[in-house]
Amino acid sequence: MIMSSSRRDFLKKSVFTGAGLSILPLVGGADAFALTETISNGKPVFKLPELPYPNNALEPYIDARTMEIHHGKHHAAYVSNLNKAVEAMDAFPADLKTVFESIEKFPASVRNNGGGHWNHTFFWEIMRPAKENNVPTGKLAEAINKNFGSLDEFKKKFKEAAMGQFGSGWAWLIAEPNGQLSICGTPNQDNPLMSVSAKKGTPILGLDVWEHAYYLKYQNKRTDYVDGFWSIVNWDKVATLLG
Ligand code: MN
Repeated sequence: MIMSSSRRDFLKKSVFTGAGLSILPLVGGADAFALTETISNGKPVFKLPELPYPNNALEPYIDARTMEIHHGKHHAAYVSNLNKAVEAMDAFPADLKTVFESIEKFPASVRNNGGGHWNHTFFWEIMRPAKENNVPTGKLAEAINKNFGSLDEFKKKFKEAAMGQFGSGWAWLIAEPNGQLSICGTPNQDNPLMSVSAKKGTPILGLDVWEHAYYLKYQNKRTDYVDGFWSIVNWDKVATLLG
């Protein structure tokens, strides 16, 4: 693979220098979810995480068969293709977050599959089995009210982002560097951690609006899928991501 010298220098500086087996968090700091990975020949080897609940745990809002295919086939393929992309490179940073910060320096396969792996790992974690009156509380509820006026207004704007994403992509609630919460959409498997994202920040909630996420149950009715999402948001997890 031909690389410019500046890119080679960047990758050399970024590469994990330890040898053997290490367990590293996918993202550092206050992020409450972490993905374990191993290091081989100085480069990370990514692994499909277990779902934090059984395939049928999100019924009736997301059906078991959709979860089985989404996690077991789609997410698994992102991991497998990311590992192939990493193998083909001379060096690769240990932390995907570092990769996202200069994603334009990497091949499209890293952007698509690295994004796919990170986004889905995040997505599984911010959902949980449905419960009655599933609403944010405490500091998170205050932050939503402060930034959007009310929970209903927030949901309305988030739904607009989810419905407005033409084709495949994601809707996000992010904490911007100045601490403000905002909503955005990204195409394909991009996310707001990526240097190429129009709006940048730390995701604290995200919704996959690819058809593979809902088509078996909802067919063309993305709107019903988005409405159902509110019953299965893991607001406790979202609150920990807010920090
Ligand atoms: Mn997906």
